[in-house]
Amino acid sequence: VNSPSYSGKPREDKLLGGLLSEEFDEGSCLSRYQSSLYRKPSPYEPSEYLVSKLKSYEMLHKRCGPGTEAFKRATEQLGHDTRSCGECRYIVWVAVHGLGNRIVSLVSAFLYALLTERVLLLDQGTDMRHLFCEPFPGTSWLLPHDFPLMDQLDSSRCYGTMLKTDAINSATTGTIPSYLYLYLIHDYEDHDKMFFCERDQNLIRQVPWLVSNSNQYFVPSLWLIPSFQTELIKLFPQKDTVFHHLGRYLLHPTNQVWGLITRFYNAYLSRADETLGVQVRVFSNPDGYLEHVMNQILSCTQREKLLPELTTLESQLKAVLVTSLYPEYSEKLRAMYWESPSSTGDMVQVYQPSQEMFQQTDEKLHDQKALAEMYLLSLTDKLVTSGLSTFGYVAQGLGGLKAWILYRPTNHTTPDPPCVRAVSMEPCFHRPPPINGCQAKTTVNSTRFVRRCEEWTTGIKLV
Ligand code: GDP
Repeated sequence: VNSPSYSGKPREDKLLGGLLSEEFDEGSCLSRYQSSLYRKPSPYEPSEYLVSKLKSYEMLHKRCGPGTEAFKRATEQLGHDTRSCGECRYIVWVAVHGLGNRIVSLVSAFLYALLTERVLLLDQGTDMRHLFCEPFPGTSWLLPHDFPLMDQLDSSRCYGTMLKTDAINSATTGTIPSYLYLYLIHDYEDHDKMFFCERDQNLIRQVPWLVSNSNQYFVPSLWLIPSFQTELIKLFPQKDTVFHHLGRYLLHPTNQVWGLITRFYNAYLSRADETLGVQVRVFSNPDGYLEHVMNQILSCTQREKLLPELTTLESQLKAVLVTSLYPEYSEKLRAMYWESPSSTGDMVQVYQPSQEMFQQTDEKLHDQKALAEMYLLSLTDKLVTSGLSTFGYVAQGLGGLKAWILYRPTNHTTPDPPCVRAVSMEPCFHRPPPINGCQAKTTVNSTRFVRRCEEWTTGIKLV
């Protein structure tokens, strides 16, 4: 380990309160057991019930995962509609959109797998192996390349489409399709949203293979399915820790990405008295450097006292980690704290790991940098994120941080107020099913679970 910042910390913490299995070889995935050296201990303990649930999931995955007899039998069953659902059931996760979107949907699919005793497998249409280590001991979460289903995905097997065309009916029982394809992408239709209905879950539960296409953090709506609620409350007595715990359980950067993270951390962040992460994502058209966004960042960080005014008299070393596709935001910030003659004492150092200029998802090093930056942001003491960005949500959730969220600017002007403090560290589910749908009853009673998102009121999040 290269000069980790929290070297005085006891090593017992390396299993993150029992979240992680001890079964792995440490060298093959350094981040798994070394993350505790870089991250302050989380104030959020996983429940014993969650820890035991993860252990039984690991056993299930070993028993049903790729290479097992059970997996072979389940694969042979594909295409033959059945009345029994077999010994192992699966959910195959397909990568959709950018890395942040992928991560939040992956964590959602994993929670769904835990709740429904399914085995989570990753479609290898896009290569996740250069980003994440295997999370489950003694088995693999990668769907074998020669798996038959993936090249014949057709929309007629899409659950929403089947409901629409009466090819399936959740009220009647009969033969069960051997696989269903779930469309849970932000532009999904009402029929697709029936996935979140209790009655539909009763049918879907029996289907051996599910293929999940989503770019959303759909966890909050799982809390609104009555049959999941009791279990969820036991798993997560602190409701807003779902992403925090499952993310830290599941997402271990590969050694290559860990190198990017630790080299940057040790060189630029480890010696600061306080670190601030600023994630700048520009969704407008045109994107790039925008004066009103720069003003928004300054207004937010000064108003919320995240950065000193140019005249303050403290003498702390503050390291600011800026992540953005564009270089200008960090350049201006750096210049400001260098040029100002009135700045006394306080040292503000500004760093930006990369300036990729545009999104290049599925380009190996680009994705690795994106993951490294989300992770680095999650290691900071305080965090400013751009509203609606799943990139920022991942950083906030992994870090156990409540970010200051920059509102999305409209009409090319700086919003006033510029930012809002997150009510919880959970990601926002941008496009939940309608509140007057099948979840109407639970939604009314659900104010203790979910709230409207701070920066996007059509979305909901756990609190
Ligand atoms: P979202 O679109 O903000 O919700 O986040 P996503 O991660 O889903 O998609 C944005 C993608 O653009 C990222 O995955 C990266 O590929 C790229 N990107 C956006 N902002 C940054 C950044 O600050 N640093 C890096 N390295 N890549 C970024």
